[in-house]
Amino acid sequence: MNVKKLGDHIITVDKVCKTFPNGVKALCDFSTNIRRAEVVVVIGPSGSGKSTFLRCLNGLEEIDSGEIIFDGIPLDHDKKNRLKIRREMGMVFQSFNLFPHMTVLENIMLAQKLVRKSSTGVAKDVSMELLEKVGIQDKVSAYPGQLSGGQQQRVAIARALAMKPKVMLFDEATSALDPEMIGEVLDVMKTLAREGMTMICVTHELGFAQEVSDWVIFMDQGKIIEGGTADHFFSNPQEERTKLFLSQIL
Ligand code: ADP
Ligand code: MG
Repeated sequence: MNVKKLGDHIITVDKVCKTFPNGVKALCDFSTNIRRAEVVVVIGPSGSGKSTFLRCLNGLEEIDSGEIIFDGIPLDHDKKNRLKIRREMGMVFQSFNLFPHMTVLENIMLAQKLVRKSSTGVAKDVSMELLEKVGIQDKVSAYPGQLSGGQQQRVAIARALAMKPKVMLFDEATSALDPEMIGEVLDVMKTLAREGMTMICVTHELGFAQEVSDWVIFMDQGKIIEGGTADHFFSNPQEERTKLFLSQIL
């Protein structure tokens, strides 16, 4: 396996195991480190534990054993620590999960006001800036149902960014989109990557991986089978399981 460069780690994941009550071992002895401003792409077959990995990172799932440390804070049973960590991680899912009865602006302002206790004025300013960043400032008063999938996902990204997270987690953010809308969402993700956001992206978009990722992890059956740069994966994958998976999606 390639050896990853050492650096200032923002996340340390050490020998994490997660078994669901039904006996499925979703993560098994899973270890990796994420450096600040690093873009890590996670690939692997359906059911290999990719979503569980992200959900454990931001405390949506509790781990059975091992350790996750985020920016010096252990993700343990301490509720305060879990909340602190949750707030520092923005998450974007395959389904956009916007509130349908709220406008785009209200969707983006909500958590800022509830969680960050921002004033309406500040929350609005931040929201407008982010809408411009994701290229949909003209939709500020629209309702999610009036937007295309690509536009809704860009709103979801703006909403996550409004919390000023230290890390962004993307779980197949473009998988539910029509092909012609994938590019506009990937473009926003690429911009974030270039601006130095720390990102962990579960995606099958290998072009994205090639363009902006610092590190790619291939998972199967709850384990990291192989890690390396995108170039390594494209030109010189080592493990048979990696080769088979890549041959299926390329
Ligand atoms: P991926 O995102 O790579 O498709 P997941 O992390 O969603 O994989 O799932 C990994 C394994 O854990 C799968 O076998 C899945 O069926 C199982 N799993 C995921 N969530 C749960 C759950 N809440 N309860 C039971 N099993 C689950
Ligand atoms: Mg998944």
